[in-house]
Amino acid sequence: MNLYDLDPARQQERVLQNLFRYLRRYVGPYHPFLRRLYREKGIDLNSLRAHADLLSLPLTQKDHLRANPALFVMQPHAPGNPPLPDGYDTEHLAAGAIAKYVFQAALNYPRDHSQHVRHPTFRQKIERRGKFEWLPVHYHASTGSTGEPTPVTFTLFDVRRPVNEMAALVIQEKRPNPNFVPYDWSDRWMSLMPAAPHVAFYSVILGKLAAGAPSFETCGGSVIPTDRQVELFVRGGFAGAIAIPSYMTHWLRRAQQLQKEGRVGPLKNLRRLLLGAEPISEALREYIRNLAHRAGADPALKVIQTYGMTELKWVFYECSEGAGIHLNPKYYYWELLHPETRQPVGPGEPGVLVFSHIGWRGTVLIRYWTGDLIKGGMRWDRCEHCGYTFPRIYPPICRADKDFTKLKGTRVDLSLLVTTVQDTPGVRRFQVSLESETDEFSRDIVAVHVLGEPGVGRENLELTIRQRMKSAVEVAPDRVIFEEDEVEFEKRLFAKNGVKADYIVERRQHAL
Ligand SMILES: [Zn+2]
Repeated sequence: MNLYDLDPARQQERVLQNLFRYLRRYVGPYHPFLRRLYREKGIDLNSLRAHADLLSLPLTQKDHLRANPALFVMQPHAPGNPPLPDGYDTEHLAAGAIAKYVFQAALNYPRDHSQHVRHPTFRQKIERRGKFEWLPVHYHASTGSTGEPTPVTFTLFDVRRPVNEMAALVIQEKRPNPNFVPYDWSDRWMSLMPAAPHVAFYSVILGKLAAGAPSFETCGGSVIPTDRQVELFVRGGFAGAIAIPSYMTHWLRRAQQLQKEGRVGPLKNLRRLLLGAEPISEALREYIRNLAHRAGADPALKVIQTYGMTELKWVFYECSEGAGIHLNPKYYYWELLHPETRQPVGPGEPGVLVFSHIGWRGTVLIRYWTGDLIKGGMRWDRCEHCGYTFPRIYPPICRADKDFTKLKGTRVDLSLLVTTVQDTPGVRRFQVSLESETDEFSRDIVAVHVLGEPGVGRENLELTIRQRMKSAVEVAPDRVIFEEDEVEFEKRLFAKNGVKADYIVERRQHAL
C-alpha cells in the first residue's frame, strides 16, 4: 500500500505507530541524550499507544543540541567507541541486527567493492556492515545568528534509505490542471547555492545522485561569477534554477543586462525556480516571476518555495505554486504547537513547527521545537493539486522566539518589517539599520538604506516607505538614505556570510 496515497487519517495513524516503534527499537536503546532524558522523566516507551501519549514526551530544542551535538548521534554501545560523558549510556546492538550483518558479510551482499583490494577478516567484514549503518560520514552545520556552529550527521544508511526515497518524490500531479508544466527527468537544473556545509547546497547533490536528475552546481558567485553562470545557463539549455531569493533577483537582473548588451540570449528554457533559505512573500514571488519573464523565461514558469533547516537534514517544497510545502510523512512525524501553551493547534491555525525523525541514523531529533512560526498553519490532508496525502505548511514563516525587538518602546516583528520594506513598489535593494543616539539617554534610530528601481522618484518612494512601515509595524524610519552604487551596496548586504542578505543590521549599544 502506497503510504503517500493513503487517506489522511490512516496515514497519520500509520506514521504515529511507526514513530512509536522507532522510539522503542532505536531511540530508547541507542540515543544517548533521549535515553537519559526519558529515564529521568520516568517515560515508558512501551506504553506509547495514541496521539495523547506523544504529547507526554518532552520537547527538545536548539539549546540541547548545541550544548553537545554528539549526544544526539545514535550510537549502540560497542567496545571501541569513544566513551560517553558521565550519566549517559546506550545498549549493545540487538542480536537481530548483528545476525543481519553476519548474513550480509557472508554473502557480500550488498557488494562491498573494497574487497577487491583488501582482505578483511570475517569479523572485520561484519564490523564494516555495522559501520554502513551507524558511522557518521556526512555533516551539515548551521552557524545561525550566534556564530556557534551546530553540526548534524548522516550515516551511509541515511543516504541510502530516507534521502534516497525523499529525493525521488518529485510529485507528478494525478490530474494535471491546464497550466501544469510537466517535469521531465532529463530537465537540467543549475544550483546557484554557495558551496558550504549547508542542507541548501548538499540536498541538491545528494538528491540528484539518489534520484538520477541532472544538476550543475555553480558553488556560488565567488566560484563562478554571476555573468558566467548566466552564459552557462543559456548555452546549456538549463530548465531550472535553485537559489536564495535575494541572489535570484540579482542574477535575473544581470541576465537582463547581459541580454541588453547582446552578450547572451533569452532564458527561454527556464520553467522552474526553486527558492529557499529566506522567506518569500507573494509579492516577492510575483516580482521574481516578472524579472524572469523579462529575461525571456517560459510563459508558464513556476516559482516554487522550499523549506528546510539543518536539523531536519532535508528540504521540502510545494508540488505547485501556493499548494503549501509538502512535508514528508514517512521519515518524520509533524506537529504544530501553540507558541505559548505548546499544545497542538487546529488545522490551519498558526503554530510552531515541531518534528520527530523516523527511521534515521546519525543525528536524530524527537519532538524538536524548530522555533519556526508557521503563520498559515498546517493541514494533514489530500492535496487538491497533486492528489496525494502530505502534511502541508503554509507561509508566511518566521521565527517564533527571536524575530521580535523593542524599537522605541514598540514590539516590532522583524520579519514583517523586512517584508514591508521589501514589498514596497520601487524598492530594488534595502537594508534597515538599527542604531542608538550617542548620548547617555540613547534613543533608537531606525535608518532605512534604499536603492530604488531606475526612474523611481525618491520623494514619493520615501513617503511610501514611511507610510507602509508606520501602518505595518507602528514605527516610522528616522532616516531614509538613498544608495547609489548597486555593486557596493550588494557587497554590504551579503558581507556577513555571503549566503543570505542581511536585511536588518543591529548597531544599537544596548540591543534587547
Ligand atoms: Zn500537492
